[in-house]
Amino acid sequence: MAKLAILEFPDPRLRKRALPVSAVDLEVRRLIDDLFETMYAAPGIGLAATQVDVHRRVLVADVSSDGSDPHALINPVILQKDGVAVSEEGCLSVPGYYEEVERAKHIRVRYQDRSGAEIEKDFEGLLAICVQHEIDHLDGKLFVDYLSEAKRSRIRKRLLRDQRQSSTAAIL
Ligand code: ZN
Repeated sequence: MAKLAILEFPDPRLRKRALPVSAVDLEVRRLIDDLFETMYAAPGIGLAATQVDVHRRVLVADVSSDGSDPHALINPVILQKDGVAVSEEGCLSVPGYYEEVERAKHIRVRYQDRSGAEIEKDFEGLLAICVQHEIDHLDGKLFVDYLSEAKRSRIRKRLLRDQRQSSTAAIL
């Protein structure tokens, strides 16, 4: 397993639309292992392949506090959405920012698991919000896209400044 580097907003690679996985092979299972390792190390509760610059439709999530509820979703498709849930979201690709986002409260998702089996599953609560957030990543969308243009541009400027400062620090 390997910990991968996470892309940060406004990196244009976060805007790429991920391609479907045609076969759940060893390479895909290795990607899932690496995504879990990277997510747990960050630490975060969800991570999409797009965030580590791999543009395949794969995401991982674990909203438990002790790493006991891992989910790996390959080629996820939301079949049904119900209700409204507003919660404060953050993102490993937008470090340090938390804003309220409106999502569906309950979703039914069709996906393949790491063995390649096709699954249909209902998600609710934090896990439903997390899966919607990660599927957005696979479509090149970030939670800041739900905010006003003014707020998004403020976050973009501050993150660009932080990224410049940290790259200078690395050289010194
Ligand atoms: Zn995110």
